[in-house]
Amino acid sequence: MEWKRLKAELLTAGGVRVEGAPIDRYTSSSSAGPGAGGGGSVFFSDGNHRVRLSLNQKSPLTLIHQGDGDARLCRGDEVIVGKLEAIGLHCPRQAYITVTGSCSFQCRYCPVPSLEGRRKAPGEVVAMIEAVVDQIDAISITSGVHSTCEEEEDYICTEILPQLQRFHLPIGVSIYPTEKTPSRLHALEVAEVKFNIETATEELFSLNCPDLNRSAIWKALTDSVPLFGRGHVFSNLIVGLGESDQEVCAGIDELTRAGVIPCLRPLNPVAGLTGAERPTPERLIRLATYHARALEREHLDPNLALTMCTTCTGCDLVPGRDL
Ligand code: SF4
Repeated sequence: MEWKRLKAELLTAGGVRVEGAPIDRYTSSSSAGPGAGGGGSVFFSDGNHRVRLSLNQKSPLTLIHQGDGDARLCRGDEVIVGKLEAIGLHCPRQAYITVTGSCSFQCRYCPVPSLEGRRKAPGEVVAMIEAVVDQIDAISITSGVHSTCEEEEDYICTEILPQLQRFHLPIGVSIYPTEKTPSRLHALEVAEVKFNIETATEELFSLNCPDLNRSAIWKALTDSVPLFGRGHVFSNLIVGLGESDQEVCAGIDELTRAGVIPCLRPLNPVAGLTGAERPTPERLIRLATYHARALEREHLDPNLALTMCTTCTGCDLVPGRDL
């Protein structure tokens, strides 16, 4: 089976059951992203591509770990031979750190507010990176919101980021932006930013993220492109919140025309959307094909990404990488 079809099916399967040798050193537990607060994930690679698979003992898919990362993914009669990838922090080849593990907002699809995680101190973040520095190519920073977006941005910009320049690695940052966020992050030599527009339409945004302002996020994106460069600004667009394909395509067009690379993220039905349906593999492939054409038309190349999700590719079908 071709990779894009297999990955689309794996992304919608809701995880894998793991058997065989222990997988502790290959397991990531997330405090952000689609797997936040779940039972952990592994990253499976067929040698050229990667997919993040949540651990789910009820899944019809089985992954057999034979030891030393050698793994077989069993899907009915089909067996896909590959490797479990080593993890930096959260994902392979990066230290992707959630600074504040709680959030004062209540977006319906997001489990972070209920996790009530704590805020990491600067020394703790530095120590975490030092422990994996020989296994990573990038540092990515994300954060919930402890009290306000302004306070969070201050903490990241004054306490955390100045401590990270010593590693001489590209830094990506994804936080809830204020008006000043793009210029502050640029002044701190951040390489790439991701501000998530999340929904294909304004109406779905108001419904799912009632306390946030979509136009402020959009402004942060367009302000960021001249600073960080076309193709080094990213935005998650969730697929599966009730939008039509046409609305997703319009969102892709709007972002790519502005020089922003969309990350089309299949809905993980958790938090307030537990029980919602995941998008089908056919839909993911259809939208990824449109996404690939839009990126090509705007000369945006996901292969040039240095940090965060477009480099990782674990959770999405990424044009130029998966198809
Ligand atoms: S694609 Fe993004 S959210 Fe998913 S595992 Fe990779 S870094 Fe984490």
